[in-house]
Amino acid sequence: MIVILKQGITPQEKDKVRSFLSEKGFIVKEIVGQQDTVLGAVGKVSIDPRTVELMPGVSSVVPISKPYKLASREMKKEDTIVQVGKVKIGGNRVAVIAGPCAVENYDQIMTIAESVREAGAVMLRGGAFKPRTSPYAFQGLGEEGLKLLKKAGEAFDMPITSEVVSPSDVKMMAEYVDMFQIGARNMQNFELLKEVGKTGMPVLLKRGLSATIEEWLMAAEYLMASGTDQVVLCERGIRTYEKATRNTLDCSAIPVVQKLTHLPVIGDPSHATGIRDMVAPMSLAIVASGASGVIVEVHNCPEKALSDGPQSLFPSQFKKLVHDIQALCPVVGKSLEKIPRVLPESMKTQQEEKKSADFSAITVSFQGVRGAFSELAARRSFDEDVQLLPCHSFSDAFDAVSSGKAKYGVLPVENTLGGTVYDTLDLLAMHPELTVVGEQQVRVMHNLITIPGTKIEEIRKVYSHPQGLQQCRAFLDKELPDAERVPFFDTAGAVEYIAKLGDKSVAAIAGSPAAHYYGMEVLRQGIETDASNYTRFYILAREENESIYRSQAELNKAALSFSVSDEPGALMDVLKTIADDGVNMTKLESRPIPGKPWEYLFFVELQLPSDKAVFEKLTEEIRAKAVSFRVLGVYSSVIG
Ligand code: PEP
Ligand code: MN
Repeated sequence: MIVILKQGITPQEKDKVRSFLSEKGFIVKEIVGQQDTVLGAVGKVSIDPRTVELMPGVSSVVPISKPYKLASREMKKEDTIVQVGKVKIGGNRVAVIAGPCAVENYDQIMTIAESVREAGAVMLRGGAFKPRTSPYAFQGLGEEGLKLLKKAGEAFDMPITSEVVSPSDVKMMAEYVDMFQIGARNMQNFELLKEVGKTGMPVLLKRGLSATIEEWLMAAEYLMASGTDQVVLCERGIRTYEKATRNTLDCSAIPVVQKLTHLPVIGDPSHATGIRDMVAPMSLAIVASGASGVIVEVHNCPEKALSDGPQSLFPSQFKKLVHDIQALCPVVGKSLEKIPRVLPESMKTQQEEKKSADFSAITVSFQGVRGAFSELAARRSFDEDVQLLPCHSFSDAFDAVSSGKAKYGVLPVENTLGGTVYDTLDLLAMHPELTVVGEQQVRVMHNLITIPGTKIEEIRKVYSHPQGLQQCRAFLDKELPDAERVPFFDTAGAVEYIAKLGDKSVAAIAGSPAAHYYGMEVLRQGIETDASNYTRFYILAREENESIYRSQAELNKAALSFSVSDEPGALMDVLKTIADDGVNMTKLESRPIPGKPWEYLFFVELQLPSDKAVFEKLTEEIRAKAVSFRVLGVYSSVIG
């Protein structure tokens, strides 16, 4: 049962409820949600719920209808985010786990680890105990394999996961792995589940070969009842009558499971298909289904692999796959999980390393109210835990970074339908102390948002930012032709406003985070006319904070600004330099220079050449030709 606590419950009252339930024989877990704090009580005992309901500080008691309790969405509404070392799995991120089926030797695991890390994997997999169909097949290197896997994980800064097959190995394995893997064949090995659960460590729980979703969630319940709340589910294909693939990938299980449980679910296209060429398309299908990640087998020399060679990707195929996943992420409202940014080795001190990984200590400014798309971009760029500073205006958001009130600012620079956000470029020109250290992309999905329980026929007025109203014109014309369209200063602000009004005849158009934040209802989802609607944001910082955010290896874009003299061919001359150096220009914009009528500042974005010297030469050449010149930033673009 779920014991919902009153907002004002005292610590003493809470302790009393807890002890009462424990004494009755329940396992009690406290779950702090966005709205409520609850105590989940599960166990073999049954009591009259009214005895708990009458205790001071208790708001209500709700039974859990499902046989799995701790794992159920009823128990916890928010998504669980599983933390494996520095990596997070769950929420709005897609984590890519990769590595060989089995660890074979030092060189093999080191080579593969290096290539998957470079391609964008955040965790390394590798079996040391292999439950094989044939007793004569390679059974894995055992503890020796774990030692090698750990070395590779440490060398390339990735947490590791490996399959545990026997309860007696659990203690030993806990010394090596960051996350246990329970294989499909062992999903219902309850003694193993209990032993692994007791460690409290993260667990990747594969779905059994012929397990129903309920049986799978019951296996997760075993782990949770034994002591861990860090469970990641993994759909890896089930046995059906179809023989064309090794198993049948049950993609539809992903959204089903997400409704039933708060635990993250990922997919394994390698064991699902058993066929190399199908791994990439099925990985994309897994991500498109809403999964929080994929686990993929990769081998440097698949034809010589000791196990599962035919389904292992070549490193180059894996690299292409991560690129494709990254491009798909914004479509499903997610972003690719990256190893958290750390300072370059030479600058790293212990304290700084801690600081850079601890996002709760970082403040990020954005323009708008809570629930805005900019807030989403900020959270995606950093972490859910980051401290947010909503600012009334663009210039307030810039000033917050300049003054040190915020370490970073996340500001929109361009929308695929609305075009450039001039405020951001103009303010960037006025703030030479700030640089662009990153870029984030968010898909703008509009929704019709109302007071809960409103029917569409009741709506007389719709509030939103003019762009929101414009981008949903076809929907409004068809579904709400008579409703008045009222422009508002921003989309999330419109939701805040209608929430305050509390009038069912008034609706807003905005993103779904705003609806959740203000306790409103999404009446119609995805009502924009053109679904290819993305906003790109710059992440800005003062110079001294640059290196914490950006990761040198991933830098792939540069932004520049310059002005030229008023003579024929002056602009052409600069642009030609860019072309002559073979550098690809991705954006060109001009803005008037305040105080200098009819003079313009040009903004350029470039694809950063892989040879740094080319970029340095280019900047020197432009500097020589231009009247003014500034490198606004060299950064990593998250767009495909
Ligand atoms: C594996 O991941 O190496 C494995 C054996 O997978 P499964 O248990 O899903 O067959
Ligand atoms: Mn395998």
